[in-house]
Amino acid sequence: MAIATIHGCEVVASELALRLLEKACVDEPTGAVAELLEVADLRIVPVVNPDGRARSLASLDEGGLLRLAPRRNARGVDLNRNWPFPQGVRDHWLPIAGTGVRRLPWYRGPSPLSEPETRAMADLVDSRPPFALLNLHSTGQIVTYPWSSKEEPPDDRAGFEAMIAAFVAHQPTWQYRSKQSRAWYPIVGSSNDWFYDRHGILAITVETGVPGGSVKRDPRKARYFFWWANPADLEAHVDNDADACFAALVAAHTYRYGGG
Ligand SMILES: [Zn+2]
Repeated sequence: MAIATIHGCEVVASELALRLLEKACVDEPTGAVAELLEVADLRIVPVVNPDGRARSLASLDEGGLLRLAPRRNARGVDLNRNWPFPQGVRDHWLPIAGTGVRRLPWYRGPSPLSEPETRAMADLVDSRPPFALLNLHSTGQIVTYPWSSKEEPPDDRAGFEAMIAAFVAHQPTWQYRSKQSRAWYPIVGSSNDWFYDRHGILAITVETGVPGGSVKRDPRKARYFFWWANPADLEAHVDNDADACFAALVAAHTYRYGGG
């Protein structure tokens, strides 16, 4: 399964999800695409946060960096801070980890799963839990795995590492680094922690692109918030990551069910 653009400003992620769909729908798939479709069904949610994405695209016409960053949903909630905490996890003092302060970009909302978008995702996953999930984001050229809320490594660390090794091996241009999510920065109430805690889903986050990279390459883009959150060359990044996504899911399947 793949889900994208839980943060509305990270449009490159939904472009990548659409590319996965395109690759899965050709008559005669090849390589990792064919390998995956032979052993598994693929579900793709190209946009988890459609209101944020629409605002982000509109910011391309309007310009104005100071317009509110369309990371959150229409109600101002960071949808990747709106999930129930894993058992035993307590709040973290860093606001970026998730906060009850409404005006901050990491506002977690009034209660876990308070938002229609997160409830829809939770229902979809509960109805038929996938063995693996790609959570597609933008910014960082990094791949992370649970936990984001605990320092201890996950029981399935070897499975996550196999997924990430396969992912990186299929990236032709940029090979991303990887970390346990918590070692990048802490998040409590993240979607991947919930997917893994509740169903043992091998859920990884793929961060396509470099923060501000677009603006460095073309300073005229600096006045558009959109380009602070997305790589200058969207297509090249989508090309770089698409086969890697399929390879990661194949590796997850092999880890869970054995090779052959
Ligand atoms: Zn994000």
